[in-house]
This record gives sequence, C-alpha cells and structure tokens, in this order.
Amino acid sequence: MDIENIIQKHGYNEELSNFIRSVYPLLVKYYNNEEIVYESLMSTPIKLTNNVYDCLIDNGFLRDTPTNNEMVSLETLKFCSGAYHCEPVIKYDKARDKYELENTNRIIAINASSLELDTVKATLIHEICHLIKSYNGEHTIREDTLIEKSGFISKTFQLNEVNGVVKRTVCFETGVGLEEGFNAVAEEQITSELIGKPFTTKGYQLMRSLANNVLSYNIPNLHEVLKEAEIYHDNTRVDAILGETYYKLLAFGDKLYPMLVDLLNPSNNLVKMKEISSNINSVIDAEYEPIRKELETIGNKSIGY
Ligand SMILES: [Zn+2]
Repeated sequence: MDIENIIQKHGYNEELSNFIRSVYPLLVKYYNNEEIVYESLMSTPIKLTNNVYDCLIDNGFLRDTPTNNEMVSLETLKFCSGAYHCEPVIKYDKARDKYELENTNRIIAINASSLELDTVKATLIHEICHLIKSYNGEHTIREDTLIEKSGFISKTFQLNEVNGVVKRTVCFETGVGLEEGFNAVAEEQITSELIGKPFTTKGYQLMRSLANNVLSYNIPNLHEVLKEAEIYHDNTRVDAILGETYYKLLAFGDKLYPMLVDLLNPSNNLVKMKEISSNINSVIDAEYEPIRKELETIGNKSIGY
C-alpha cells in the first residue's frame, strides 16, 4: 500500500500531497487498519473549493438526493466548512424485481483555498475520518430498503423506481450525535499530533465533551472497541461491554445534536442563543445523569481485572 498511488490517482498538488503523506500514518495508527485507510482514500477525491455545495453540483452530485427527514438539511452544505459526501448508484432489475448497488461515488469537499491554517487541516481530517468510518460496507440493500452506515450513524431509505430512475427517500436516521462526538475526538487527537501542539475543535464541542465523558470511566479497551465498531458497523463487542447503556447514549446524542445545530446557526441573536443553551442544559441535567451513573458502574466493575 503505497501513499504515492493515492496522490497520483487524484493528481493532488504539492500541498495536498504533503498533507496526505504526513496524515496517513497518523490515521493508520488511530484506526489501526491500514487497508481501510488506503482503500477509502484511493476511492475518494479531495477538492478544495470556495463553496462546498457548488463543488458537489459541479462534480455530478446532488442530482437526485432526498431532502426530507434528515437531521441536518442539505441547505447547511451551502455554508459549511467541509463535507464527506457519498451517493450510491442503484439500479432496479425489473425481471428479478430487485434493487442492486451498481457503484458508489464519493467526494470530500473543503471550503478553503489552501491547507495553511490549522482549522482547515482539522476540517479535512474530520471529513477523512467520516470517510474511513463509512467506507467498509457503507450500503446494504434489503428488498426495497437501503441502509447507509457511517460510524455509529445508520440511515434508512425507501427505494422507489419511477420511469427507470431509482429514487431514495429518507425514512429515519440514528446515531448522528454520538458519531459527531467521537469524530470530533478523532479530529482533535489526529490534528494535535499532526501540528505538534494541542488542538481544540471549533465545531461540535458539546458532542465532543459527551464522547470524552463516555471515555472517562476507565472502562477497559472501550475506545479501541468503539473505533472498531465505527469502522466495521458491527456493535457486537460494544454490546458486550456497554449493553443497553450504548443505546441510551445513542438516543441521548440524537436528542442533543439537533439542539446544538440550532445553537450554531449563524442567524441566531443573543436572546435566541441563551434560550437554546438553557434548553440544552435542562436536557443534559434531566437525561444524562442516569446514563453517566451506568457508565460509572460499568467502569467500577472492571477495576481489579
Ligand atoms: Zn462531521
């Protein structure tokens, strides 16, 4: 697995090439899986752009993308600092009455003209981490349902064939809050190592704090097991350690996340921000304490082993 193949395949400029050369070993170390890091970076071009939304359109994405029932609407792409975006190409075989995955198109777009700033490097690392945690078994088709996985996120679509075109409609999505939290932890750790000094994420600090809190109860191997579950989309080992507590965390993260997105909306005034902050604090006070206690109990039980 030669990093130069990734650089050559996508024709990266010198700055992006040097970035990939330095970040690659850090990603392999963090996720302990070179094959997925290498293959995912091979499969996905990275573009620097002045508008993420326009960049996706220019590269042939968003032509037939559903917009309903998603936790964060596609509109946010118009003012976001970066995105990992993936679109499956699905065909309908009429004779066999079967939907089939034909191809998967992926892209990372970063709103910047260079990688000079640490915040831009961090954004690119954040999106590459989303890619790494999506790549393996990203899509599964079961009859007329498509399931898309990215780390702890699971998104279910209803498939419909209309005049030869397969439409996707989002039914539900879970795990976004917890996933963004653990992705922010990854972003901070890998960026800090890359730039050689402590880095604090500008994005989802609240979700990051939740993830760090989960990791703070001395539960043996928890972070390694969680990272493995994010990559393989297999919760067996997480279930064995956390049991029901994991699913409570997932639901809690999904309750908190839309509130945080609301809080970060640039059009908020001070009154609105205070109102959202106080709602966030009431939800944390009312709902996190029992989960926190369960984590503490699991951590205490494992002391001495
Ligand atoms: Zn993210």
